[in-house]
Amino acid sequence: MERRLVGIPASPGIVVGPVHVLLWEVPEVPQRIIDDEAIDAEIARFHATLDRARERLRTVRARAARQAGEEEAKIFDAQLFILEDVELIGRVEGLIRQNLAAESAFEITMLEWRHHFARHASPMMRERVGDITDVQIRVLSLLLNLPDHDPVELPKGANAILVTHDLTPSLTVQLDREAIAAIATDAGTRVSHVAILARSLGLPAVVGLRTATQRLKGGELAILDGGAGTLWINPTPEEIEGFHARSEREAALSAELARLTSAEPVTMDQVRLTLRANVDLPEEADAAVHSGADGVGLMRTEFLVVGRTAMPDEEEQYRAYRRVVSSFGAHPVVIRTFDIGGDKLPVGGYPTEANPFLGWRAIRMCLDEPGIFRTQLRALLRAAMHGDLRIMLPLVVSVDEVRHARAMLQEAAAELAERGVPHRADVPLGVMIETPAAAIAADTFVGEAAFFSIGTNDLTQYTLAVDRGNANIADRFTPLHPGVLRLIRRTVEVGAEHGIDVTVCGEMASQPLMAFALIGLGVRQLSVAPRAVPLVKRLVRAITVRAAEAAATEALASRSAAAAEAVIQRGLAECCGGDPFLHDGLLDLS
Ligand code: PEP
Ligand code: MG
Repeated sequence: MERRLVGIPASPGIVVGPVHVLLWEVPEVPQRIIDDEAIDAEIARFHATLDRARERLRTVRARAARQAGEEEAKIFDAQLFILEDVELIGRVEGLIRQNLAAESAFEITMLEWRHHFARHASPMMRERVGDITDVQIRVLSLLLNLPDHDPVELPKGANAILVTHDLTPSLTVQLDREAIAAIATDAGTRVSHVAILARSLGLPAVVGLRTATQRLKGGELAILDGGAGTLWINPTPEEIEGFHARSEREAALSAELARLTSAEPVTMDQVRLTLRANVDLPEEADAAVHSGADGVGLMRTEFLVVGRTAMPDEEEQYRAYRRVVSSFGAHPVVIRTFDIGGDKLPVGGYPTEANPFLGWRAIRMCLDEPGIFRTQLRALLRAAMHGDLRIMLPLVVSVDEVRHARAMLQEAAAELAERGVPHRADVPLGVMIETPAAAIAADTFVGEAAFFSIGTNDLTQYTLAVDRGNANIADRFTPLHPGVLRLIRRTVEVGAEHGIDVTVCGEMASQPLMAFALIGLGVRQLSVAPRAVPLVKRLVRAITVRAAEAAATEALASRSAAAAEAVIQRGLAECCGGDPFLHDGLLDLS
């Protein structure tokens, strides 16, 4: 077997540890008929299995409560209720009495339940579909005696490398953070949400390995190198030694970069840029402050919802936003309203869609769910009392959405005023430019949007029609394609003409080569992962805007992404060819 699996670097860091394979998929159930005499024993086996499954769920629940909080742990109560449901148990027993093996009987019953819940009129009931899948996996794996993939029982401090197909929100909450040191997935790309979350949690990760779950059994010793995007299986002692040396070198380079924390992001030709941080979890606020960022350019609030059974209420959200806003004093903190629904952190309770990326998500969902949206807006208006908070709307395609959102913002302010709760009503409302429609028609937002923030992850996905989470086409996800560059340029021009601030907060801004291109396109505000702040600062201080502009002008006129990349590479090398930090890939700390 090839000992080196190559994927996509998602979150830096090197971990040497045992592989833990987690196959969290509904297993195939072979149909099996039993004799009349075997019926009683089969029913007893079914009950014993239910006991074991409940026992495990209680363990997972207790750990989730300890590590993530009581609210997150509640997700498992629903699953426990299902396992205790008298009707369900009676139905399975009835089918066993008709000579079906326990696993066949259980599978049929779960299919009926799934069918029933998926079509239920109440969102609360539809929300149970995800829980049913988890229960199905847990019970069927036990009934079929499948290898134990349950993430429940990893020894503490196992330093394990979790290998799984994809990391769903429900799996994320189940993870034992004391046992898992790194993540490797078959699916995903650098800009998929598992990668973004791993970077926020500071867990080294490699995604897009495609066949890792098929090639590994579990228990093998491996080295995961998150910066290089590789997973080495059964390494030799010399190889382990080599990785330790590389790890030390990375630490030394990070320490050197950290010295730039208080330096100004000013180019060699004296142009000052604004460098802000992206924050995905409120806990990251301190790291963002220490990175030397001029505030927060994007807080992704949807991570507050990961793995929850219910949306966080106004008070809880207020506290989370206040924490980030107050950490930054007078610096701006841009908080984005929920970008949930569709494929992106699907909220329970809504039917799954055939085309989730083009579906009911982000601002579309918020405008249709005034209860959820106004709760968030009230929390934001209250948190705005503690600093320079600004609100940003995701996935906007039309000015109507901005007007509608503004009307709801005014309603939220009126509700707070009526309750006599301190708040600010004049909070700036900006939009993300992350669809080709918004970029081409950026002028249609003039007078309605207080600022633009270009989300290059989605903008690239929608412009090139390349799924940002699909490992099979990851090499086609090329933000330097002239089509994408021209949309960014168009947005910058509209901003400059009408005095609207334009930031880039997609992953492009965190990578030196691409950040150089963005500066050349006229972008003066970048929002990057906290760990990338010093790296991008180093880039800014080593280049001239003049050189970046020359390279970007040539790239805009290129005929392909590869040609544009070559032009940008050349331009960057001319500015700072000798700097080991700025050669893409050598040390990408974002
Ligand atoms: C983007 O699309 O570039 C962006 C910043 O938002 P997200 O990655 O959360 O979709
Ligand atoms: Mg986006």
